[in-house]
Amino acid sequence: MVKGVRFPGRYLQGPGILDRLGVEAMAFAPHALVVLDKGVVAFLREPVETAMRGHVEAQIFEHGGECSESEIRRMVEAARAHGAGVIVGAGGGKAIDTAKAAARDCALPVIVVPTIAASDAPCSALAVVYNDDGTVAYDSFLPRNPDLVLADTAIIANSPARFLAAGIGDALATFYEAESCRQSGAHNCLGMPGLPLAFTVASSCRDAIFAFGADALAECDAKTAGPALERVVEANILLSGIGFESGGVAAAHAIHHGLCELEDVHHHLHGEKVAIGVLAGLKLHKEEAELARVRAFCESVRLPVRLRDIGIKDATEEKLQTIAARACRSGEIIHNEPIPVTPAMVVEALTALI
Ligand SMILES: [Zn+2]
Repeated sequence: MVKGVRFPGRYLQGPGILDRLGVEAMAFAPHALVVLDKGVVAFLREPVETAMRGHVEAQIFEHGGECSESEIRRMVEAARAHGAGVIVGAGGGKAIDTAKAAARDCALPVIVVPTIAASDAPCSALAVVYNDDGTVAYDSFLPRNPDLVLADTAIIANSPARFLAAGIGDALATFYEAESCRQSGAHNCLGMPGLPLAFTVASSCRDAIFAFGADALAECDAKTAGPALERVVEANILLSGIGFESGGVAAAHAIHHGLCELEDVHHHLHGEKVAIGVLAGLKLHKEEAELARVRAFCESVRLPVRLRDIGIKDATEEKLQTIAARACRSGEIIHNEPIPVTPAMVVEALTALI
């Protein structure tokens, strides 16, 4: 049987790594389109221009805020007009995803500079495309992972700790979902079972966030890229990224998709909703001891543990049915679990989290 794993081309992490952007980009091409998230353009434009000077002719492109088809097209046109040989995407998930999708459309390499560690998007070969009104349109699967990821922990340590906590929530799902896929033999994002390395990475991811999560948040509060934050950034971005793509996804993200059906949760971050999905997934498996352990961990890293913590104040039967129906629809990743999962089981699991 063929099994596989996938990775970003290279991953470099440390405080001040942004200073190397020009030297690194020069290895790809003499002209770069640099996409800056509109939320970071004020403080990132100057350091990016300084890093590029003398190495690469960089055109700065301010991202509009949404990873939509129109925004991807606007970026492709800008890259072509500038004669860019490489695209750099710096910022949060949507700016990064737009850069990844535009690079695919231009057949160019892409460098990703995450300014927060709120999810495992920076390393993945996936872009979530939204409609211009902000609703999710579809997942766009890319032929390859980013060529280079530069995770500057000094920048990440200066972002709000809530983002780092959300990244821990996303990373928390990685082990449980990969383990479900390992048991069931379900396919990963390459359409095949993962090699054993995928599950080793997923275990390392869980071990790192359990050991260093709380300390990393304290370091982030102090705006310090200390040793715990370094470990958690690696877990949230690199280990979780490799772990989910190569190990596979299952109940936690399916329940996240279900939760997103409700207007109530729209002000909450991806990883915060995924954490609820992890807890519900453990309840599905009736793993009460592990559920208690993970719930206590979530509380220690400021993650939600109840539906009301992510905005669902009145968890009516109708709302729970809506979540469960979406989570369990035919072909959905919840069916990667090693046990058959029905909407009624999901409703029961969510009821325990009211
Ligand atoms: Zn995720």
